[in-house]
Parts: sequence; structure tokens; C-alpha cells
Amino acid sequence: MAAQEEGQQDKTYRRVDLPSGSTEKEVRMKCKICGSMAINHHLHARDGSDPDLCDVCFWRNRANILAVEVKRFREMDEEIKEILRERDLLT
Ligand SMILES: [Zn+2]
Repeated sequence: MAAQEEGQQDKTYRRVDLPSGSTEKEVRMKCKICGSMAINHHLHARDGSDPDLCDVCFWRNRANILAVEVKRFREMDEEIKEILRERDLLT
């Protein structure tokens, strides 16, 4: 039984033999950033965009985009406050 379980585990991690003439990308999609095959469009609240990113890179990408937007909003907030200070309108 233990040997059979080991055999099954080996199969899980066995390298997939590719059909002749096909690339690994055609057989299994890999993340374009990190190479992970953990691409699960139906899980983790993914919205179907960025099909070539793994789940981690998908959300890291979203977080980075939001961080840039938050930084820009903070800069705009400071610019608005500066204008209000110049006009003595800031209370
Ligand atoms: Zn990735």
C-alpha cells in the first residue's frame, strides 16, 4: 500500500511528456511573470482578465495598480490642499 502511494505521488510530480511538435506552453499555460502553472481562472475571485498570469501574480498585479492609484490620489489631495492654503480657504 505504501509503495503504491509512493508510485501515485511520483506520477503527480512526473514531468509531462509533450506531444510531438507541441510546446509546453500549448500543453500547459505558464505564468508569464514567474512561470508558475497555478492559473485558476475559476478560483480566487479572478475576473477572467490577465489569462497569462498565475493566481499570485494576478493579485500582485492588481495590488500594484491600486498602490499607484492611491499614491496619485494622495498627491492630488496635497495639490488641492496647497491651492486651498494659497487662497486661505483651508480651515
Ligand atoms: Zn506568476
